[in-house]
Amino acid sequence: MELKEYWSDKGHSRDFKLIRIGFVAVRFRWLVTLLIIGIAGWIAVDWWVLDTAHFKLLWKVRLMTGVMLTPLLPLSYLCKLNRRWMVLSLFALVIILLLFNLVSLWSFRDVATMPAGYVAFPYFLLALLAVLPLPIRSGVRIAVTIMVAVLATDYWLDSHTLNNGKLIDRVWLLLCFSLAMIWVQTGQLRMLMDLYRESTRDALTRLMNRRLFMQQFAAVRHDSKADQPYTLILFDLDKFKRINDEHGHLMGDEVLVRVAMTLMDIFGPDAMVARYGGEEFIVLLPNTRLEQGVRKAETLRLAVESQPVENPLDESEVTVTLSGGVVEGHHNSDMTELLLWVDEALYEAKSQGRNCVVAHV
Ligand code: GH3
Ligand code: MG
Ligand code: MG
Repeated sequence: MELKEYWSDKGHSRDFKLIRIGFVAVRFRWLVTLLIIGIAGWIAVDWWVLDTAHFKLLWKVRLMTGVMLTPLLPLSYLCKLNRRWMVLSLFALVIILLLFNLVSLWSFRDVATMPAGYVAFPYFLLALLAVLPLPIRSGVRIAVTIMVAVLATDYWLDSHTLNNGKLIDRVWLLLCFSLAMIWVQTGQLRMLMDLYRESTRDALTRLMNRRLFMQQFAAVRHDSKADQPYTLILFDLDKFKRINDEHGHLMGDEVLVRVAMTLMDIFGPDAMVARYGGEEFIVLLPNTRLEQGVRKAETLRLAVESQPVENPLDESEVTVTLSGGVVEGHHNSDMTELLLWVDEALYEAKSQGRNCVVAHV
């Protein structure tokens, strides 16, 4: 795991981005619901704690804040679909709550006379936002916005100066809460990433599993332009059952891992390489024509054939071969049909005696 994966979501895959945004949207909705109930419910506490003048103003402010927060609930359903909506909703939430903080601070004028619930509000806000699995950059942005707004409000109302011990105390506390918020947010992001990896990677070869491949395939098909074909290749190891029977399953597993490594070497980072089934691998080459795809598949076939795999137990070597089927797809191709055709081409390669590549034309 690299630091930049925690820093921003730029390097995250599209699939993971959508999953994370969906997760954030659900938590955001709960957060807004609890805030509406909590902010309105606090009126009962104010009734006990505040004098009549403050109470008369602040119950209206609280209800108003609740009303302003309510549209964020339907908005959170749009967040699930779009990152921009999520950023906008989060920004709106923070601004509404900072406005609430500003008005309540203004009504008391002096922090010293303010009930603890109001003094603690910005810290409470930072603690609540820790429930969102956000990257560090987003956490820093939220923390800086809250810190600047709170300090500016303090400065404006109380004319604090930088030498004021109270101000330093406030900055220090805000910093501590901000760091705690970012730490918890990053921890949640990491947990989500780990779970995502485990559910989308094949445990033996660490290639994409079939579920993720099918999602990526749908995305490539959807994004490809009319003049940009893509190529799908299906490989199946030849007589693999015999390797298991003659050399044991451990050797069979070793062969699968080696072939997966060769696949990654030959096809490179632009290709989508997945373990499709037991000893079947599937490759999607974006922006690639059939002839180029066949050439690449042939390169892999030769590489696998020429690299015997060493048995980890007795250092004996086993030579494996594979057969491949290739098909070209377009923006409007039917995915099921392409998978059927590539399977037919692979079947044809097997019938032609194995260790060869056949294209569907
Ligand atoms: P063909 O050339 O026609 O493809 O013959 P084959 O023996 O490769 O095909 P078959 O489908 O009969 O056998 C596939 C074998 O792959 C059977 C299964 O035990 C083995 N296999 C599937 N997954 C794994 C795995 O994760 N590890 C090991 N060691 N073997 C596996
Ligand atoms: Mg098979
Ligand atoms: Mg096979």
